[in-house]
Amino acid sequence: MKSIHRHRLPASDSGPDYRHIYFSPHLDDAILSCAGRIAQQTGAGHQVLVVTIFAGSGDGATRPPPAFAPFQDIPARRCEDRRALDVVAADHRWLDFPDAIQRHRRYASLVGITAPIARREAPLRRAVTTEVARICRRWPTAKLYFPLAIGNHVDHQIAAAAGFTLLSGGRPERAVTFYEDVPYVCIPHLLRQRFELAGIASPPGAAPTVPVCARAREAHAGLMSLPQFARHAGPVASGLLYALLTVRFGRAHCGARRRRWIAMQAELAGIDGEFDTKVAAVACYDSQVAAIYGDRDTMRRQLADCCATGGSNAMYERYWHPTEPDPAPPTQATFS
Ligand SMILES: [Zn+2]
Repeated sequence: MKSIHRHRLPASDSGPDYRHIYFSPHLDDAILSCAGRIAQQTGAGHQVLVVTIFAGSGDGATRPPPAFAPFQDIPARRCEDRRALDVVAADHRWLDFPDAIQRHRRYASLVGITAPIARREAPLRRAVTTEVARICRRWPTAKLYFPLAIGNHVDHQIAAAAGFTLLSGGRPERAVTFYEDVPYVCIPHLLRQRFELAGIASPPGAAPTVPVCARAREAHAGLMSLPQFARHAGPVASGLLYALLTVRFGRAHCGARRRRWIAMQAELAGIDGEFDTKVAAVACYDSQVAAIYGDRDTMRRQLADCCATGGSNAMYERYWHPTEPDPAPPTQATFS
């Protein structure tokens, strides 16, 4: 595992000359998705900042159901985040926007939390975009990383939208990269669904689409393999999830014909040497490991499955770069 070096924690706009800034919707997403690359960058002596957007505690007016308890103890989750970022030697900044489940009860369900961004959230979306843009202006040469919002969690959608606003006419004005949301990218067909919803063209060489019902069936099986879903889904909830997936895949597929506005090229970042560091960093999020994976052994096994792109034993994280139209075929990228 990589040695840990001491680093400063930014309290304001002062801070090191960051080369890379990762925008994380929640207090775990950047590490789940990008810890391997972050560890490589800090190991090479680059300063890395992770900005967590929805790291606020809210005003307490909205009380989510008990099942959401693992996500509500923000002080404890910030402690976990600080320890995880120490493992990869990255700095942190926590913005005070509250998590969706602390904003409205509509988000206390799978349907609500993965629905398109509601009109009532427009002021929040603008505030997030403004704050993200301000941070980006402060470090004008930093490379920027945003989630793709695979799985369509509304907070991930808002974070991704802030990244998309940095693209003008579908072309990048800054060095903007999008990362794949773990664990949802591991679920069959959710990546393609997100591309369809976001108006991103399928890469050249992508496998032909399979019928909507088959996609829903395979995605349902993938989701139910995650303890996060299996634990709470009885037969009725499981059936509703399958129905929801069928409707969402159908809508995304139909809408995709009208919404192609950007192309992206895949980059596979090899993380063989950093995979153990990634697992160690994710393990710092005790509350989230228990909620998402059940236990650390399952977490390690599922992360290994997720990072072994293309059926090989080599470990990767995959990143997507906005490109000029008609990009060259991506290297070794599978697209399910
Ligand atoms: Zn998240």
